[in-house]
Amino acid sequence: MNKAVRNVLAVISGPSGVGKGTVIKKMFSMRPDLVESVSCTTRQPRAGEQDGKDYFFVTRQRFEEMISRGELLEYSAHFENYYGTPRAFVENTLKTGDIILEIDVDGALNVKKAYPSAVLIMILPPSMEELERRLKERGTESDEKIALRISRAAYELAQKDKYDYCVVNESVDGAAEQILEIIGKEKEVLQ
Ligand code: 5GP
Repeated sequence: MNKAVRNVLAVISGPSGVGKGTVIKKMFSMRPDLVESVSCTTRQPRAGEQDGKDYFFVTRQRFEEMISRGELLEYSAHFENYYGTPRAFVENTLKTGDIILEIDVDGALNVKKAYPSAVLIMILPPSMEELERRLKERGTESDEKIALRISRAAYELAQKDKYDYCVVNESVDGAAEQILEIIGKEKEVLQ
């Protein structure tokens, strides 16, 4: 049997507070050729977020137009806002390299339906207690919002068996290395 190489669509999920953003940033510093998909959202930008870099910030009307035109690979509603993955960008990037999507569990499972060869990776906290501690430590949100995020986190973690891989975020470097190893392994296909 021969080994061939394919481009990988890797979907990374994990509850809010798990440190996804930091791990993914580390991955990009280690593999600058990786491309990250930029999602569209109807939520308001947070301080420091840039349009076209963190998200494409769009109106609800524009988002609904994108849904009806089939321009989104997947989308879901979250905390009263829409989030979705632009289809054309993902498909074009995959022609030349690997692409990373950082999306929630519902979106990830929808991507897997559209692209069975997508690799789903969930980042787990060392423990639920640790996750709650990290969420509270952020100190940017009301108790009510924190409680919402904790219950959402429990829902997301309960779906972990539907993922191809789970990586525990004990350390940022370790988690980033493990995910890059998974992508490297998934690039090789037997023919
Ligand atoms: P935040 O508002 O904190 O940036 O993101 C809220 C949630 O939306 C996170 O769980 C994030 O992974 C998810 N999300 C971000 N982009 C997308 C997307 O394109 N599709 C889906 N389904 N979820 C997304």
